[in-house]
Amino acid sequence: MLDRVFNPEGKALPPMRGFKYTSWSPMGCDANGRCLLAALTMDNRLTVQVNLNRLQWVQLVDLTEIYGERLYETSYRLSKNEAPEGNLGDFAEFQRRHSMQTPVRMEWSGICTTQQVKHNNECRVVGSVLLAVLFENGNIAVWQFQLPFVGKESISSCNTIESGISSPSVLFWWEYEHNNRKMSGLIVGSAFGPVKILPVNLKAVKGYFTLRQPVVLWKEMDQLPVHGIKCVPLYHPYQKCSCSLVVAARGSYVFWCLLLISKAGLNVHNSHVTGLHSLPIVSMTADKQNGTVYTCSSDGKVRQLIPIFTDIALKFEHQLIKLSDVFGSVRTHGIAVSPCGAYLAIITTEGMVNGLHPVNKNYQVQFVTLKTFEEAAAQLLESSVQNLFKQVDLIDLVRWKILKDKHIPQFLHEALEKKIESSGVTYFWRFKLFLLRILYQSMQKTPSEALWKPAHEDSKILIVDSPGMGNAEDEQQEEGTSSRQVTKPGLQERSREGEAEEPTDDSLPPSGDGGGHEAVEEKLLEIQGKIEAVEMHLTREHMKRVLGEVYLHTWITENTSIPTRGLCNFLMSDEEYEDRTARVLIGHISKKMNKQTFPEHCSLCKEILPFTDRKQAVCSNGHIWLRCFLTYQSCQSLIYRRCLLHDSIARHPAPEDPDWIKRLLQSPCPFCDSPVF
Ligand SMILES: [Zn+2]
Ligand SMILES: [Zn+2]
Repeated sequence: MLDRVFNPEGKALPPMRGFKYTSWSPMGCDANGRCLLAALTMDNRLTVQVNLNRLQWVQLVDLTEIYGERLYETSYRLSKNEAPEGNLGDFAEFQRRHSMQTPVRMEWSGICTTQQVKHNNECRVVGSVLLAVLFENGNIAVWQFQLPFVGKESISSCNTIESGISSPSVLFWWEYEHNNRKMSGLIVGSAFGPVKILPVNLKAVKGYFTLRQPVVLWKEMDQLPVHGIKCVPLYHPYQKCSCSLVVAARGSYVFWCLLLISKAGLNVHNSHVTGLHSLPIVSMTADKQNGTVYTCSSDGKVRQLIPIFTDIALKFEHQLIKLSDVFGSVRTHGIAVSPCGAYLAIITTEGMVNGLHPVNKNYQVQFVTLKTFEEAAAQLLESSVQNLFKQVDLIDLVRWKILKDKHIPQFLHEALEKKIESSGVTYFWRFKLFLLRILYQSMQKTPSEALWKPAHEDSKILIVDSPGMGNAEDEQQEEGTSSRQVTKPGLQERSREGEAEEPTDDSLPPSGDGGGHEAVEEKLLEIQGKIEAVEMHLTREHMKRVLGEVYLHTWITENTSIPTRGLCNFLMSDEEYEDRTARVLIGHISKKMNKQTFPEHCSLCKEILPFTDRKQAVCSNGHIWLRCFLTYQSCQSLIYRRCLLHDSIARHPAPEDPDWIKRLLQSPCPFCDSPVF
């Protein structure tokens, strides 16, 4: 009666608050293409939460409840051969049922994609994600969710695996890819010491393979509890094959294991790294790009472990990051590395002062930069992701540098121009737009809404080349000045002034401040002109994409919600702009449309809405409607979506929209890559 799992409504106990463990899904799982959060509360409830609207968290599903119902339906037996259900009055039976539904940990897999053939023989790519939940009795429930995850109806299956591991403590997905062959399994650690990988058979996910039998990575029951497990895919430069690096925090040691799959079969190399901490490791994190591992113990010491490949396997070189040098005496509770490895986030509380523990604990999240600005910029330039939003931690380092120096470093400017010239890929144009916007912001006397600037800029300290407090103080001062001057925008007005201006040549203003107020104003106008020009380029590229979709999906002349004729005329209106592909595309579309124009009409006065501006439509009676930046349709409703940077607006998909328009409306912002919602 006193158990919260069995009796969530039980009035006998005060409510427990807080979380035991949380786990972020990969990006692209919720309706807006962002992450889901699996949360395990102190009273052992496992739920999936989503941040659908800004700053508003919603519970999508209570997995504890659904799993409990499933167990009830099967009389608490996983297989038919199991002994029939016992009596709940029996304490052993009570314990058995309790441990089979008390989650210990949960972890998300990567996104699995499979092809589905529809009735009309059309192929559809379907995404799904798996959530593995480890229970006290060693069972693992593997939930499969259809993407985007919207709630209970997105659950496609739930399979329970019996691991047979006693006192299980942690789990992590093992995901391996070689020659388009994907393998996966679950790495499970025990509080007694052993670590093994279990096969995960999922018939529903076609094209994915698993192990034939469990692989034991560490078998000794040496009473060193496994506290955390991470797995990183790497490429072995000497063995010339992809491999998986598994690391597990065991007591104050790091156990590592390298899995190499070659024609000869599976090769396992393992060892422990010792001499890292004098206290047990409380938290461990790994950089997915290069396999660098970070561990921390509660005494404020963080270790960075860098894997170095040897002929056969690898070894680790490690160095100490002493947080007390930067933050003073602190206790550390957890660490996490940001997705592209730009920052290490650390949860700290005050340490001992004069040999006494503090009376109150103030939990703080500190950010330590792990990369220099140059490294971040180089990574962004050579990125295979080509999406600014997915690399937002690297972007943030670049942003910080430009805000501070009020100038775009020459090497970055040149490298970017070269990329734009040689490839023309829109990602580089978006990167350029981002740099110009930040430069504009850095030069403003009265900063407009600091959309790119978080409030606690001063807490970032670059460990690599400036461990002192000097940097932080600099920043603090800067923060102080700017925050005193914050007034409302000016950006809108400036942009209008700027519109009349022709884009000037591409050279950037020299660094440093040039003279008085007028010189700054002039520079701002110049940057504004460049921003306009880049935005125009990106708009044209997106318009071409939209017209391409119209051409592909309309067979006969028909009135789509996209102002096709307006887009064609707009693209052709600038005589200086010469684009052969656009001309050819527009030629084809014009043939299809014949002489028809299908103009848009103002819903208030029924007048024609001409297409003269990419951002808005004005009828002859002066009614102004904003244009959706994904379809260029005038948005004649008061409910619309925006990207995270508030660049512009987009309409909501309507039920009568054909699939291809719905797909267009799902695209990220053409200016900043962020999701639109
Ligand atoms: Zn009107
Ligand atoms: Zn945007």
